[in-house]
Amino acid sequence: MATPDIASRRLAAGALAAGFADLRPPLAPNEARIAAERCLFCFDAPCVTACPTSIDIPLFVRQIATANVEGAARTILDSNILGGMCARVCPTETLCEQACVRAAEERPIEIGRLQRHATDRLMESGIQPYRQGPSTGRSVAVVGAGPAGLACAHALAVAGHAVTIYEARPKLGGLNEYGIAAYKTVDGFAQREVAFVLGVGGINVVHGRRLGAGLTIDELAATHDAVFLAVGLDTVNRLGIEDALDGVVDGVSLIADIRQASDLAAIPIGRRVVVIGGGMTAIDVASQARRLGAEEVTIAYRRAAAQMGASPYEQRLAQTDGVLIRTGVVPRRVIAEGGRVVALEVERPATGERLTLPCDQLFRAIGQAIVADEVAPLAIVSGRIVVDEERRTSRPGVWAGGDCVAGGDDLTVTAVEDGKRAAASIDRALREASGG
Ligand code: SF4
Repeated sequence: MATPDIASRRLAAGALAAGFADLRPPLAPNEARIAAERCLFCFDAPCVTACPTSIDIPLFVRQIATANVEGAARTILDSNILGGMCARVCPTETLCEQACVRAAEERPIEIGRLQRHATDRLMESGIQPYRQGPSTGRSVAVVGAGPAGLACAHALAVAGHAVTIYEARPKLGGLNEYGIAAYKTVDGFAQREVAFVLGVGGINVVHGRRLGAGLTIDELAATHDAVFLAVGLDTVNRLGIEDALDGVVDGVSLIADIRQASDLAAIPIGRRVVVIGGGMTAIDVASQARRLGAEEVTIAYRRAAAQMGASPYEQRLAQTDGVLIRTGVVPRRVIAEGGRVVALEVERPATGERLTLPCDQLFRAIGQAIVADEVAPLAIVSGRIVVDEERRTSRPGVWAGGDCVAGGDDLTVTAVEDGKRAAASIDRALREASGG
């Protein structure tokens, strides 16, 4: 709800729409062919090694170069069923495109945009290349329909297991639907991709069920042959300094509100905004605050720019939007008047110097954690579930993946890989158990 000093900025509708247009527009067919022909189709290609889902990049790029775009899409989706979203949101500049041998001599192959070209074409064609495998008679519960849950559910369905997805939120997609900046995925793509994934068949979806709120691991284990937890993270880490003031807001809620908004102009945004954090969420909040009309947006990050979770590309993107990134500053005090934030006081530990950053909105983007009670008695470390290489938890019959597990990169693509690995492990375990 807007308050008198956090009125919605009155940006012209055209300026708002332009700010939330597609960040990296699709390639036209001739552009895609020319971009693909630059590829050297390397043997032992470093771009493949750099891809968390090991997509055969030289193969799909060659397929685009030879006008086999549907074949290219199939190559991508066989390794990464959410290849369409990953083409939009992967930090390719620190993954495949950074590793590309052509990056050093000129510029890398535009792997992300080529991947989008192929997957978009296939999805627009209405072709469904996957179908549920012959029934194994086994059932698996997948809790959470984010990237890890969807990837796991899809692979299990292809393997012939009956899958039930339990999802707490109204829409499927997890962070793809609620946690990624609006200009990175426009036109309802996340929901179209969910429909494509479910198009395999054999995946039952139960809405409105949240782990810990009437749904327990014991119950799931009793009613299914295996359980995969992809519950994401629930609680936003607190600052530990005056969190409860008016105007102190969770960054993830702003991102979700923008993604679900029917009218961007109705989203209240401060005139002067400070965002605390250094990851992708901080960047997405800061850039979108500017695009919503905030006049001054500052990111306050405690360490150096090189240590930020957000890639240099993301940092540049925010700076291009007019965001000031202050590094090496530690939040010390939230200054309030009448119960409402008016400034953040930060300190440079190296010198002891204190700075006051005036703001009428202060966003927390310092990470999230799982609600431990929900997943008790699984082993947890630093607010996340402990898993092994195959994504098995400490409890037999229960696997986990995505943001809720320890040691991940918090990327869509690594969540997909978690889902794939867990599905392979679950499939193996179920077949061994039935002597198959
Ligand atoms: Fe093509 Fe670059 Fe991969 Fe080589 S490293 S196969 S040039 S995309």
